[in-house]
Amino acid sequence: MRLALLGFHHETNTFATRPTDYADFAQHGILRGDELVHRHAEAHSTVAGFLEIGRRSGVPEVTVVPLYYATANPSGTVTRATFERIAGELLRSLAEGGPWDGVLLALHGAAVAEGYPDADGEVAARIRAAIGPNVPIGLALDLHANLTARMVDQATVTVLYRTNPHLDPRLRARECAEFVVRTVRGEIHPVQALETPPLVINIVTQGTDEEPMRGLMAAADAVIARPGMLTASIAMGYPYADVPEMGAAFLAVHDGDPAAARAAAQELAGLAWQRRQSFVAQVPGPSEALQQAMAAPRGPVVLLDVGDNIGGGTMGDSTLLLAEARRLGVRRYLQTLYDPDAVIACVAAGVGARLTLLVGGKTPDSPHPPVEVSGYVRLISDGKFEDPTPTHGGWRFFDAGTTVVLEMAEEQTLVLTSRVIGNTSSQQMASLGIRPERYRVVVAKGVLSPRPAYAPIAAQLVLVNTPGITTADLSRFTYRERRRPLYPFELAATYSPAIRG
Ligand SMILES: [Zn+2]
Repeated sequence: MRLALLGFHHETNTFATRPTDYADFAQHGILRGDELVHRHAEAHSTVAGFLEIGRRSGVPEVTVVPLYYATANPSGTVTRATFERIAGELLRSLAEGGPWDGVLLALHGAAVAEGYPDADGEVAARIRAAIGPNVPIGLALDLHANLTARMVDQATVTVLYRTNPHLDPRLRARECAEFVVRTVRGEIHPVQALETPPLVINIVTQGTDEEPMRGLMAAADAVIARPGMLTASIAMGYPYADVPEMGAAFLAVHDGDPAAARAAAQELAGLAWQRRQSFVAQVPGPSEALQQAMAAPRGPVVLLDVGDNIGGGTMGDSTLLLAEARRLGVRRYLQTLYDPDAVIACVAAGVGARLTLLVGGKTPDSPHPPVEVSGYVRLISDGKFEDPTPTHGGWRFFDAGTTVVLEMAEEQTLVLTSRVIGNTSSQQMASLGIRPERYRVVVAKGVLSPRPAYAPIAAQLVLVNTPGITTADLSRFTYRERRRPLYPFELAATYSPAIRG
């Protein structure tokens, strides 16, 4: 049994000014063949889970052939030329290596390209067209998918992450691959049902370790435990993609019984709909959060910069919290900033040099201008680090580009990076000799992705309602493409699964 492994992974923030081009994918990673094995086999990623079925399935006849996988940081709309080139490369690798008994496909589920608001559905449809209707496709998606009928209809079985932060991509991909193997053998006959109530779940209520999401995921687990049910997924949606199918979605996959799948998907959707008010959250603003951190009995208080969520498509160079911290005189303060120009200036000055420079706030969507700081260059690093523990999304190898640690007189530490990189690994600071637990305030750019790195040492984690193209305040965006009505934009939106069924 030969299974093709393919992937195209991009979370597209359509509110970002700069489009995403081929060079962005090339920088982050376009992997072919054995490169996929080297980068992922020992990681906790979707690709790792797919590879695992070929190595540890206990079924010697299963061979997983890694073909092609393209990913870039979450960022703006993918240009049409880039999309066509990547889709072309992906399809070519599939055609050259065939025929196939099955396809293992890793997509994000919130990719948008020029002309393709459902870029994931487009990729899946082209693969389906290439291999014909009878070859099973196992589709593994991020929990933030804006799940569409087109994606699901191309796939034989669809499995989403069930944790946020995403610590289970490898497990879910392995499950997905097992379903494909069993389908090829004729042991199971997956039937999928998708339910899409008019519901948006705010990013600040999406943590699966806390309510309201914990209860909802428990309901999904209960559905999965039913006889004949293969899997069930909750797509929390990605509100920073202005596309018709933006929003939450509920999927159930049963072995052979469409009515059971449909009833389960409707049950989960109905439960979420009942709880829709709990997905609308209030979080403190920058001054309030910083003052709360200064008054806390002990640190570090980790402030989650929701508006500059690198995992949601920002550049990680918002200076808003830094400026406010300096205004308030916050001491023992630590944060990262993307600023390649400042890195160049610091490297030119050299380790130990003192300098005054403008940092951050230089990219088009940054919500706050650059801030003038003075300090000395304590350390220059190549920015590479590795994390063997599960991080958000399952990544193991990280590259922040040339990185500078700048110490300022006010007991404030800035880590300046020349690549856009999230604060998702404890090794980011450890590799620079920084111990975040010694600080009073640590800013982490993200909502849930920094938690595996910071929850173990934080006295408190505080979500901060900062502006930016990933702000929690969705009323700041002008949507042109999303469907209407959609709760909570239109509070009068209604949903009744029984009528649809
Ligand atoms: Zn996600």
